[in-house]
Amino acid sequence: MSKIIGIDLGTTNSLVAVWQDGKSVLIPNSFGEYLTPSVVSVDELGKIYVGKTAKERLSSHPQQTASVFKRFMGTSRKYKLGYKTFLPEELSALVLKKLKEDAETYLGETVEEAIISVPAYFNDMARNATKRAGLMAGLKVERIINEPSAAALACQNLNQNEDATILVFDFGGGTLDVSLVECFDNIIEILAVSGDNQLGGQDFDDMIASHFMRSLNIDPTELQPETKEIIRKSAEICKRNLTENKSCEMVVNCPEISEKLEISRKDVVKICAELFERMGKPISKVLMDAKVSSNDITQVVLVGGSCKMPVVQQYLKHLLGRDDIVALEPDYMIALGCGVSAGIKERNEDIKDMLLTDICPFSLGTDVANHQKGDRALMSFIIERNSPLPITRESLYQTAYDNQKHICMKIYQGEAMYADENILLGEIDLDVPPKPAGEVKVFVRFTYDINGILEVEVKVSATGEIKRLVIVNKELGMEQSQIDEKLREFERLKVNPEENEENRYILEWGQRLFMQSTNEQMRSDIVKKLQYFEYVMAQDIYQVPKVRKYTTVFFAYIEKMLNRYVSFSDDVLADGSWYQEDDEDEREIDNLFHEWDEKDK
Ligand code: ADP
Ligand code: MG
Repeated sequence: MSKIIGIDLGTTNSLVAVWQDGKSVLIPNSFGEYLTPSVVSVDELGKIYVGKTAKERLSSHPQQTASVFKRFMGTSRKYKLGYKTFLPEELSALVLKKLKEDAETYLGETVEEAIISVPAYFNDMARNATKRAGLMAGLKVERIINEPSAAALACQNLNQNEDATILVFDFGGGTLDVSLVECFDNIIEILAVSGDNQLGGQDFDDMIASHFMRSLNIDPTELQPETKEIIRKSAEICKRNLTENKSCEMVVNCPEISEKLEISRKDVVKICAELFERMGKPISKVLMDAKVSSNDITQVVLVGGSCKMPVVQQYLKHLLGRDDIVALEPDYMIALGCGVSAGIKERNEDIKDMLLTDICPFSLGTDVANHQKGDRALMSFIIERNSPLPITRESLYQTAYDNQKHICMKIYQGEAMYADENILLGEIDLDVPPKPAGEVKVFVRFTYDINGILEVEVKVSATGEIKRLVIVNKELGMEQSQIDEKLREFERLKVNPEENEENRYILEWGQRLFMQSTNEQMRSDIVKKLQYFEYVMAQDIYQVPKVRKYTTVFFAYIEKMLNRYVSFSDDVLADGSWYQEDDEDEREIDNLFHEWDEKDK
């Protein structure tokens, strides 16, 4: 059996993992990195770039580049990149294809199946779009896993915990998802979910950028869009820098402005007060919904890049009143969980079989005679919408009229009162002994599992006859011929070939640096380096690795010059340890949180 891969198809970044040698292992991409940006770009020749190279083109070629398309999965929103139009699921398929290829390179074998994680709140349309994206990438996706379940699974697998109630706090680039997950025996169940789909790391970037412009009297309405983008980018660098340091200098160097400003963690807490306040709401909501108190939580799992911010961790400590909140590989938890899930599906012996529950997004049932309006059968629900999966439910039915010899039981999915307004999934024909109405009983059992497979079993009590029907979720809305066509189309599209990828990245990187730099000398040096690199690529491929190395060093230096944050303020502790108890800053920030609390009362 070929390997199954686990994929965290993220809004900002995607990762792929696999179960290997008794543990979940992340797979590096062609740059040797685990995070592949979920960005797709098309160049003048119609060639497609996915990942890091595409991300470089985000500011230099915004019209030909798409990002954050996960937000629109399952919708018909169109992305026009150059002369080609893509659906969100097609862009996702390109990302998946890239990850599949990276996995195949790493494993040295072809991969045909994947488990993909999706947010717990994804509806059926978005889930099916994710499955279709997999199919278009040449991946069979039998199982979709909820992101918080994946994080909990990774956590249980790493810690070998006993039963636990886990709060998963997933704070990414554009969204916050909070979930309460229970791990009991070998069952992982989501108890409650909440979140804010308009709150993420980008909001911190925006707030810092506004603060920068406000403080320096820069009017954003008078700036070129490119300049605003550069300020936002600098704000993000500043924010990340504040993860390591308590204070740093935010620098913007571009043709329109050349300014710098000292920003501290404490400033961020003040500037972003509104964001902190919003962070707390979904936490209260899940605790309330699940009727669980902060003390009942065994572990808080931090997921997502924004959880790396010390101020975020500190705020959570304050909010939940506990000290044990530490970020343990927040970038990797979901992907690692997908890898564990892949291991379980492969039925590896070195892994405990954990059962993941899911929620059934629609109701399932059968039709029953309608005595008021004889011609239109009513829907009788057997499995209610939002039931945790896997689930088995039984129901008892009886003959509707005297001497009935035959029952045709139709199986439907949907919420409508009249059966025929729902989606017909299948039917079972039964012969029954002719008797007065209501005397012949039929037991019906529905079993619906996390792979979307419905098993229906009916038993006629009088004769003992049993009939079974297995219905596989066919609601993908895509014929095999359409899938084949997409596969062929994507094959033709030729995503950037591995060996050229690093080269292409260098070219895109240089062009972006050129755009950003203000200094004549710097610009002409960049052009010279780029031209030489292009020349070597065309004329002397054996020299490419060496020249690429030099060019990389040079560009990295330019990058540093452009984002200089030279002097740290004096109060930064020499060893950078922010968590010392007598740390005044920390106390001051805590006091600030307390002040807000007081104001709220
Ligand atoms: P998503 O789940 O939306 O795909 P991620 O979990 O990858 O996103 O998080 C991306 C966000 O995390 C971005 O806003 C980024 O700025 C932020 N981020 C990443 N690393 C750090 C860091 N070291 N310090 C602060 N923020 C970070
Ligand atoms: Mg995420």
